[in-house]
Parts: sequence; structure tokens; C-alpha cells
Amino acid sequence: MSTPAPMDLERALALMDQAIAARAHPWETERVAVEHALGRVLAEQPAARLDLPPFHKSAMDGFALRAGDPGLPSSPAFPGLPGPFFQVSELVAAGSVATGALAQGQAVRIMTGAPVPAEADRVVMQEHTELRHGWVRLLNTAGPPNICPQGEDIQRGRAVLPTGQRLAAVDLANLAACGLREVLVARRVRLAVISTGDEVVSHPDMLGPGRILDANGPLLAALAHTWGLDLHSQTHARDDAQATRHAVATALEQADLVAISGGVSAGVFDHVQDALRACGLHIAFDRLAVKPGRPMTLAHGPGGMVFGLPGNPVPVYLMFHLFVLRAAATLQGTAWPVRRLRVPLAQDFGRRKVDRLEYIPVRLDAQGRAALLPTHGTAHLLAHGAADGFISVPAGVSSLAAGHAVDLLLLRP
Ligand code: AMP
Ligand code: MG
Repeated sequence: MSTPAPMDLERALALMDQAIAARAHPWETERVAVEHALGRVLAEQPAARLDLPPFHKSAMDGFALRAGDPGLPSSPAFPGLPGPFFQVSELVAAGSVATGALAQGQAVRIMTGAPVPAEADRVVMQEHTELRHGWVRLLNTAGPPNICPQGEDIQRGRAVLPTGQRLAAVDLANLAACGLREVLVARRVRLAVISTGDEVVSHPDMLGPGRILDANGPLLAALAHTWGLDLHSQTHARDDAQATRHAVATALEQADLVAISGGVSAGVFDHVQDALRACGLHIAFDRLAVKPGRPMTLAHGPGGMVFGLPGNPVPVYLMFHLFVLRAAATLQGTAWPVRRLRVPLAQDFGRRKVDRLEYIPVRLDAQGRAALLPTHGTAHLLAHGAADGFISVPAGVSSLAAGHAVDLLLLRP
């Protein structure tokens, strides 16, 4: 039986969130090497093993001077020229330390990244000095200290990143620099992908009259990869009740989430809804008041959660981000990773039918405005090749003027 009317997106998301929250905790964790943690979700708050920087560090190539040292008024190396002057005691490169104490009237020649001698409180950059025969003359005495204090970025014991952080390249670098070799992360969510349809084939050799190549399987597999899900299986089910039921049941055995596309409407050859019920799942909704995506179905139960995605690739693309990715994120204890922005429209928008919330592909132009991309429907995934994401137009809105601020879902990580 269908629900009486297509469900609002908000309500559908709330139902999914509830169902997911019921099974999210405790989620399994594992320890992985930092270099293998890209895209993983932190299940702990890793603490810095050292201060960063680990010592007072010179920010410049130059000369380190003692605190309050005015220098000498004259130098045999610079006859007749104004000072102040300092005698250069030694050269400290990055990776080494000064061997002696820095005395009054002396400077240590120091390179960027080298530890500043304990007695020094400033480094005069090389460009503001003149060096002759072991003496340095300051041309400008007013500059900044040019010292990065020990622990300025982070102190030992402090959290490098919060629990729930999805680790990006920058995070791996920061973890490594803070002395961490391994981190505790959430187990990856296992996703099973099923494409349905007697017309859908996976290889060009299998093409024939009325056949099309599978777009949804490759799309969902690549999205799983993009977002750090573990693609457990990618299969195909014929438009047959038993085959569909078998495909769903098999997927549910091992996967945390199942995404099946096509066959989800009420057509003669649509068997997904029956298969979901036959697998003992409860259908939370089977139609959405969203364009594209009306036949979107969610089923869940003790056996797991299945997303009955529409057959056409554009709603599959959208619904993956709205539902599957959100569910996977919640299971792992992290926020839905899709970025949302308010951006102005680059041109006027108009539509005739206003009954549904509508998602429209756009490209962000150089001014940060949403430029509408021409598309002729829900099968036209090619229109999304140039897209940065979708803007959403609420139900009831028929036109928007250029410059109007709209909500944008950025679908590029
Ligand atoms: P359905 O909901 O099964 O009736 O499918 C709706 C439309 O999506 C039909 O035109 C199907 O041929 C198409 N379709 C279904 N599955 C796929 C797929 N995996 N890749 C590309 N198109 C598909
Ligand atoms: Mg079909």
C-alpha cells in the first residue's frame, strides 16, 4: 500500500534519522595508520604528542639578538658607517642548535626553522642587515620579532581534531606533525548497490534492442568511493519478483545499507516494494514530494535499511546525497558532509508546476553565482558533468529573479 500523498523531504529525512539513530550506537571502531586514514571518521579526539612548534623557531633567515641588547655603536668592518653593530658568534641552520650562549653585543646568524637561542627575543631579517667580515650592521631596528613561539599552534596534550572529524589531507598532515602514528576511526559503512531492470546491462557487448547501459551502478559505486563508504557489492536484478527479493535479501545479509535503483514505482515490472516487504522491512515512505525523486522509497527493519532509489540517474545522484550519505554519516558519528551555501542566482528562473520542492543543477560562476544548466530531464545525467551541485526551489515558488539568494547543495567534496 502506498502512503496517501508524497511525503515532504523534511518529514522523510526525520523518519530516516530516527531509524538510523536507533541502530547507530555503538558503532564499531578500528585503529588505522594515519597515512591510511584519508576520508575516515575519527572515533576519538587524538591528543598532540608534542608542542607545535616544538621550540621557539625562527620565522626568517636573519640574525637573532639578545633581549634588550642595543648593540655596538661602531665596528671595524664598517668604518664611518652608523650602527648598531653585532659580532656574529655562529651560524645555526634548521635542524641544529646554537652551541654557545649568546653574549651582549653578539648575534647568531640563524636560518628559517632553526631554534632561536634562549637568550634571544628577536630575529632581524637578513634583508634588513648588512654582513661584513663576521660583523652585522642593522639597517632597520624596528621590525617584528620574527619568532614562532613554542606551542603557538598547539600544546602537547591538546586535542588535534574533534571526534567525528572526517579526515582530509590537511588533517593527516596535522596528525603526523603532532606525533600521531595511528588513530581510532569508525568502521566504514558497507554499502550494497543493486541495479534493476531487464533493459539495464553492464557491458556494451550485452547491448541490444531496447537495452541501455547501467549508469546507476557505476554512479553509486563511485559515490561510495568518493565518500569513504565500503562498496560491499554491486549487482543487478532482473525485473522478476523472486530475483529482486533474492538480490535484496543477499545484500542485507552483509551490508549496513542497501541502495537499489529502479523498479520502485507501481509499474507491472516494478518488484522492489514487494521485495522489501518480503524481506521483513517496514516501508517508511514510498513517494517524495521532491523533483526529481518522486518514487523514492525507504524501508528498514531489524534486517537493515534499504534505499529504493528511482530508476533514472539524476534522482539517484540527488537521493544518494540527501539520504544514503546522510545515513552513513550518522552511523559513523559524523555530520552530513554535504556543504550548503546561500548564493545569488545568475539569471531569472521560472517554472510552471509548483507542487514539489525542486532541485536544479547549477554551476557556480566566477562571481559565486548559481548559473542554471540546461537539462532535459531525470535521465540527463550528462547535464551534471559541469554542475557543482543543485539549487533547491521550494514548493509554491514559480519564479525567482536573477540575484535572488537560493540554497545550494555543493555535491563536490
Ligand atoms: P524504473 O523506475 O525501473 O521504471 O526506471 C525508470 C527509468 O530509469 C527507465 O527509463 C529505466 O530504463 C531507467 N533506469 C533504470 N535503472 C537504470 C540504471 N541502472 N541506469 C540507467 N538508467 C536506468
Ligand atoms: Mg525498471
